[in-house]
Amino acid sequence: MYLFIHRKDLRVADLRAFDYLRSKDAEGIHLLIIDPALTAQGRLTSHSGRNFVGQAASLLHSYAKAGKELHVLYGDPVHVTEALLQSHPIDEVVVHADYTPYARSRDERLQQTVHRLGRRWISIADAPLADLEAFPAYTGRSEPYKVFTPFYRMWSSFIMQSYNPMGITTIHDLNTVREISGRVAVPFALPEQIASALGGTAAVEGSVKSALLLDRFVREHLAAYAASRDAFAEGHTSGLSRFLNTGAISARQAYEATEGLPGAETWLRQLAWRDFYLYQAMYHEDYFRYEHLSDLSALTDKHFGAWASGATGIPIIDAAMTQLNRTGELPNRLRMVTAMFLTKNLLCPFTLGEQHFRLNLSDYDNTLNRGGWLWCSSLGYDAAPYFRIMNPATQSQTHDPVGSYIRRWLPHLAHLSDKEIHQPLSGAIVDLKASRARAIDVYRSIAKQP
Ligand code: FAD
Repeated sequence: MYLFIHRKDLRVADLRAFDYLRSKDAEGIHLLIIDPALTAQGRLTSHSGRNFVGQAASLLHSYAKAGKELHVLYGDPVHVTEALLQSHPIDEVVVHADYTPYARSRDERLQQTVHRLGRRWISIADAPLADLEAFPAYTGRSEPYKVFTPFYRMWSSFIMQSYNPMGITTIHDLNTVREISGRVAVPFALPEQIASALGGTAAVEGSVKSALLLDRFVREHLAAYAASRDAFAEGHTSGLSRFLNTGAISARQAYEATEGLPGAETWLRQLAWRDFYLYQAMYHEDYFRYEHLSDLSALTDKHFGAWASGATGIPIIDAAMTQLNRTGELPNRLRMVTAMFLTKNLLCPFTLGEQHFRLNLSDYDNTLNRGGWLWCSSLGYDAAPYFRIMNPATQSQTHDPVGSYIRRWLPHLAHLSDKEIHQPLSGAIVDLKASRARAIDVYRSIAKQP
């Protein structure tokens, strides 16, 4: 008997672990563990927490629809797993790999427990589009890539070779594994608040919604993606990130739906950026430690509160932070503009902005969020050069000339003309030109550090 534990793979089709399980032809228990370490400090009710719960509810619904059972338990994953191994004739524990520092140390503890109890531990790569665990062997390099462009070249050739040109027909869904239902008698019941959140959420959230979004994006926006992706007032990107990050849809399913179509190349390049950051988390141990490696002591938290609450007096920054705080959404271009403004014009440490996004983005993902913040603050590998500082007013004017985004999120500015609406208000917390010059000086010395 096997134990399969869902983590960032909240779907029932196209799971690489199901391929493996089918080849074993054994019966098993399917489990989702709600880990208190990941739901503490208000994270369950944050935008990303609600996104996760919605998609977990949808996963439960998918199991029920297929006549199968998903057990949902609450507790430290090591304790829950240990209790199950001690009370059931399970001979192997199967998961998809996860590469954040927390996930790695949790999985190390899990693996030790599984081995101590004499069972097998099987961890299978699933989240990236390219199998990044096989990637170094494919490239033959002894050093991991640090720069995106050569990574992307090799990644593209890897993808071309590893995908079946007729589609990914060999990856299996829930109907092909022999999950067994029945009571799991261990004392890790869900707290009432989580149980009712799981029961009360609309079940169409996850795989169905992401499939509809993908279908509409391919039909209506893919062909023009390169030209329209930065037009943040229009919202013509896929909107798939929050589903990709919980695994409600796999990167392979997204690839299959777009491959070879006009516009797909630019869009797949974004999936390559996703893989590039996942790759860095896997192979560069400094990826989650940059704040300890660079001297950021010239930076301050002076203006952080004004930035976070959308009260800087720079209209596009305040509009963007208002959208983020209210909805959990923020287009990529505005993530870059607000992040550069915080770290460069306001000289705040990137970790403050990273933390604010962590609590407010619906699609929050530790690895991708860190990648974005490192890039914008000119730290890490292949980041923006330290002197690259986007001017928020110019960005707003270029990508939304009539200011409809600002008018939508800051209606008190709607009376301003198309020309005026992008400009800093009197009383803005910094002068854009002077703060830019100061940031270049400060970041020149940070960038020079080894
Ligand atoms: P599309 O334009 O349709 O792109 C398709 C997919 O490609 C996305 O769903 C995403 O998986 C991937 N992708 C797109 N842009 C990027 C990028 N710049 N880097 C890595 N992958 C990308 N993305 C997250 O998913 N979670 C985060 O926590 C996150 N934090 C970010 C923080 C900052 C400071 C910045 C600059 C970017 C961050 N991003 C993050 C990346 C990007 O902004 C979002 O993935 C994108 O806006 C999601 O919208 P979409 O699904 O419509 O993307």
